[in-house]
Amino acid sequence: MESLIESKLLKADKAFQEWKNVPFEKKQKLIARAAEILKTKSEFFGEIITTEMNKPISQAIAEVEKCALMMNYYAEAENILLPEKIESEYGISEIHYVPKGVILGVMPWNFPFWQVLRFAIPAILAGNTVVLKHASICFGSGNAIEEVFIEAGFPKGVFQNLEVGHRDVKEILEHTVIKGVSLTGSEEAGAEVASIAGKNIKKSLLELGGSDAFIVLNDADLDEAAKVGALARLQNCGQTCVAAKRFIIQKDIESDFLPKFVEEYKKYVPADPKLKETKLGGMAKSDLADDLEKQYQKALAHGAVVILPLERISDNEFNPGLIRVEEENPILQEELFGPLGMVMIAENDDKALEIANNVPFGLANSVWTTNKERQQFYINGLESGTVNINRMTSSDPRFPFGGTKSSGYGTELSLLALREFVTAKTILAK
Ligand code: NDP
Repeated sequence: MESLIESKLLKADKAFQEWKNVPFEKKQKLIARAAEILKTKSEFFGEIITTEMNKPISQAIAEVEKCALMMNYYAEAENILLPEKIESEYGISEIHYVPKGVILGVMPWNFPFWQVLRFAIPAILAGNTVVLKHASICFGSGNAIEEVFIEAGFPKGVFQNLEVGHRDVKEILEHTVIKGVSLTGSEEAGAEVASIAGKNIKKSLLELGGSDAFIVLNDADLDEAAKVGALARLQNCGQTCVAAKRFIIQKDIESDFLPKFVEEYKKYVPADPKLKETKLGGMAKSDLADDLEKQYQKALAHGAVVILPLERISDNEFNPGLIRVEEENPILQEELFGPLGMVMIAENDDKALEIANNVPFGLANSVWTTNKERQQFYINGLESGTVNINRMTSSDPRFPFGGTKSSGYGTELSLLALREFVTAKTILAK
């Protein structure tokens, strides 16, 4: 292992020995200070994001501001890690929540600040220290986040950015000081990293892909559903794990809803991401644009019908596409990570639910209906970590976030995230 990386791992471990004993409330004060820095400099950080991965600047600034909100949530959160006394016949019987040590974050480029901080803040508040392996195109964001921790006054070594490629992850994860890993990214990367963690008996948390449904039923507000649906697919140029990817429309409103949806969709035209009014930038990497084009061709070869063509207008920019697919199309087994949406038609609730669940993923589905009984039917039946009614998915720091099936395992956000990288230690005395 390169000596600089080794020394950073040892520094993280040394920092852990002291950080674990810092009172929870003191840690919260430092988090609040870091949140303040993010808020004050959101434009500066937003520009780093836009430069690195083409996110429209207004969305990049909103991402940074959302990080500050999340951090303020944890800065004021209840301490659920205090020792718990359990009534029993023993003289002492308690549960202590003990931080694990140095945790590795393997993070993607699609939300370069949010994904990192969403994982790191609760892990650090629980008493762990963190080393980050950011996506190779986001080292600037990784370094900027490390600077925020330093400026806020965190002890050196509590959060460090490692500028390493994905080939270095195995050796880092196998290092004895690393006690767990959290990865957000593709299924392939997740499976690889989780298997290394498993072999080394280390805890892993995976937040992977999604192919979430956006179900529009015949008693929904169709204007609102059309407007929000287009945003839910095309925000961040469609490169969001919880984006709406499959629009399942009840058959009897197809002719009412589809024209409205297409009209809203057409409002997203690629433009310069540095301009404040831009709603759609280019994709983050041209190889991912190549992949999306291949997936489009694959869908068409298996009978998909074009509603709006996916038109590549530069290395990484597209006029967004919309296709109608039937259930047997193999493209449904894949995640479309870009500005390409799929429309499916369902006769009734049973069919809509069956189609919605018939994918390998289960992250965050959205259902549009004003009928309470139908809402309950989907709440009970949808196989996903989150169900949204009459709203698109957007994570909220107060609530758990995570997936089922191939979308991963483990809980991010909410108070529950504080218990992801701790050991529940039982203390019993006669
Ligand atoms: P990856 O999953 O490859 O990248 C995410 C992170 O994992 C990066 O830091 C990357 O490092 C790292 N990584 C990649 N492969 C490995 C590996 N074998 N071992 C250890 N770490 C690894 O995403 P891509 O950028 O290649 O995008 C591919 C697809 O992944 C997308 O089209 C989308 O479907 C999905 N994805 C999902 C995300 C989500 O939010 N759930 C986010 C990003 C992608 P490096 O940059 O050095 O390769």
